[in-house]
Amino acid sequence: LNYQENNRDKILANTDIARLIQEYVPLKRTGTNFRANCPFHKEKTPSFFVSPAKQIFHCFGCGAGGTIIEFYQRINGLTYFEAIKGLSEKYGIPITFNDKYETGEKEELYSINSSALEFYKSELKKNRNAYKYFLERSLSDDTIVLFGLGYALDSWNSLKYELNRKGYKDEKLIESGLIIRKETGETYDRFRNRVIFPILDITGKPIAFGGRVINGDSDFKYINSPETPIYHKGGMLYGLNLSKKYITEADKVYILEGYMDLITCYQFGIKNVAATLGTALTPAQIKLLSRFTKNIVMVYDGDAAGVSAMWRSMEKLLEQDIFPEIYVIEDDMDPAEILLLKGSEYFLKKLSKPLSFFEFGLKKLRAEHNANSLAGKKKIISEMINLFRHIKDIVSISELTKRLSENLNVDFDALFLEVKKQIKLSKSEIGNRENEDAETISSNNFVLKDGFSELEMKILKLLIDNGNPEIIEKFKSTIVVSDLTEPLNLIFGAIFETGNSSPGFLLDYFANEKEIQTLITSLAVDSPNQNGLPEYMPENTDTVTNDYINQYNIKMGKADSNETFQKIKSIVMNDGECDPILIQKHLENKRNLKQVAVN
Ligand SMILES: [Zn+2]
Repeated sequence: LNYQENNRDKILANTDIARLIQEYVPLKRTGTNFRANCPFHKEKTPSFFVSPAKQIFHCFGCGAGGTIIEFYQRINGLTYFEAIKGLSEKYGIPITFNDKYETGEKEELYSINSSALEFYKSELKKNRNAYKYFLERSLSDDTIVLFGLGYALDSWNSLKYELNRKGYKDEKLIESGLIIRKETGETYDRFRNRVIFPILDITGKPIAFGGRVINGDSDFKYINSPETPIYHKGGMLYGLNLSKKYITEADKVYILEGYMDLITCYQFGIKNVAATLGTALTPAQIKLLSRFTKNIVMVYDGDAAGVSAMWRSMEKLLEQDIFPEIYVIEDDMDPAEILLLKGSEYFLKKLSKPLSFFEFGLKKLRAEHNANSLAGKKKIISEMINLFRHIKDIVSISELTKRLSENLNVDFDALFLEVKKQIKLSKSEIGNRENEDAETISSNNFVLKDGFSELEMKILKLLIDNGNPEIIEKFKSTIVVSDLTEPLNLIFGAIFETGNSSPGFLLDYFANEKEIQTLITSLAVDSPNQNGLPEYMPENTDTVTNDYINQYNIKMGKADSNETFQKIKSIVMNDGECDPILIQKHLENKRNLKQVAVN
């Protein structure tokens, strides 16, 4: 672990996050921060902030956030290790790169996953109920074996005991994501009483698992392994290890949403498939697919979530010069159900008539707006132009504009002029936002909205801004971690345990906890003057610390009242003074005396 931390620290100490981000999006200074339109989601008003002081970015629109490493990782679709490597090369930062060490680290995670896979498979054979789940969905024995399907026992520790018995230590099991550690130190199996879908990388090595409840009595129908050094969700596609040769053969791939859809298609002979596991396609996934084919057919649910994921995938594909086709399932069934009820011939016939992305987009927009009214037409045109923005070559844009003008019955020349104007504008629009009111975004509301105690959030921000071991120690002897609610108990627990409260460190500590990371980065870029939290300067940190400790004690009932009241009480009791004006005088004298004593 030392090796990872050292490299992380080296990268963080020798790079400038603002300089890197500037290469991707133009940044504009606002107070102590920079802001821009978020490169990770579509927006018109910039809610993406970069703090050069804390070397952190955070988007109040989509929650993306982190250090330069997380930015580089995400924008390029890399794994954590690839991002470290890439940045070290880019900026010539020598990292103590140790191939053996890294390979060893990863190899152990692969072998833990292989052992877990075997265990889950053997449990499936013993558990009639779980096996029935697959049989009821018409999966054959061969298919169950081919996809390595398994079962996690209804037990808190059976996998942990099995893997401990094989010699794997808890620390490593936690890193693999198969075991979770509670703040009390106890550990338990992540997957319990679920059928298991192993997630294999393109070479067939197990890198993660998905689990589905059998009885349907959980809020979380599906759960997945968290991101680990060997599992980067946005970088892989489910089923590709088996389907890649069929994709190359057919020179076409059907992108599906889930495990069961993919497995059922495969069993029914539709083998040129891959599944995204419920998210929009990432640039990394698209690059991976492009190695096998450029002909991509998205097979998606017609529900709102499905359509919105598809729209985002479409934009990403267009950016990579791929014009996708789309097949929206309208039968209110998923592909697995259609195959079981109507057979593969029926489904293949349906799949053979997908819409082009252009037709799909227009159909969707025509359903939303009245194309016969001028206002409706304008809306459709502006949304279509938004889609065209993602296309790189002007010839294609001109061709599509022609089709759009015919479809909506508007003059081509006028429309093309508008398209060119809009697209040009979009590329420089961030620079044109000089006059925009910087106060329009109340980005900071995010921080206090979630029902957390304001005082504890202020303390956390103080620690993130200016935490040093001395201050951390002061709060440690004041705050009882078990009095806090989640996730504050986890965050304060980590800070008190390690004596470190820098955002770069905390992001690494909570590497698998997206929500905590978002909270930390949002606090780190939170700026004053926008009804946010106060700004903490090194010179006022001590005063503020003492003030917060008093407030916290009062809140927890550890102090009867505030300091002044205690003083007044002592004046009344000891000096026998009752006149308010004289009490005021006494107070001032005491303050002066105290000041003299300090000096
Ligand atoms: Zn964003």
